[in-house]
Amino acid sequence: MSFAINNFKGSGVICAALFICVLPLIVEAQKTACIELAFSLMKNKYSRGITIYNALEKDQQESVKKMISCKTDNDMVMDLETVVHESIHYLDAIKTNTNSCPTFYLINDSELKINSLTPDEYKKLNETPVNLIYASLTADEKIFYADTYLQGTEGKQDFFFLLDELNAMPMG
Ligand SMILES: [Zn+2]
Repeated sequence: MSFAINNFKGSGVICAALFICVLPLIVEAQKTACIELAFSLMKNKYSRGITIYNALEKDQQESVKKMISCKTDNDMVMDLETVVHESIHYLDAIKTNTNSCPTFYLINDSELKINSLTPDEYKKLNETPVNLIYASLTADEKIFYADTYLQGTEGKQDFFFLLDELNAMPMG
């Protein structure tokens, strides 16, 4: 009897150890399958999103891929929109650094460079917080985007930050 109980306890320990070791592998495999499904959905329904994602460097792709939570189908769609949105921010930042002037990735895979500003004009826009715009809006104009991007911490950003958000918003 005692042997059987010990044996049972022993197999319980083995089961618990296996569970602890195997569970993360199962969760990881499910997450990988979910991300593959999400990207195949995006490829079929919004190929432009895949093109934007593919324009990123590998480490940036890994970074935005982590935004897919795989909780529900609705979450997955929202997460894919976020992936595309954040990809645009990455691309805008890379192009801005490469061109040494504010540059925005456009949907036809071209870019818009703002290189016609004088140094003074650039400095002025770079130092103007976007929350100044909020005060000039009517109540009807103070919609979600205005509340999100023209107030609080975001409202202290400069004008080029706002252009970056305006660029990313319609694409994701
Ligand atoms: Zn954004």
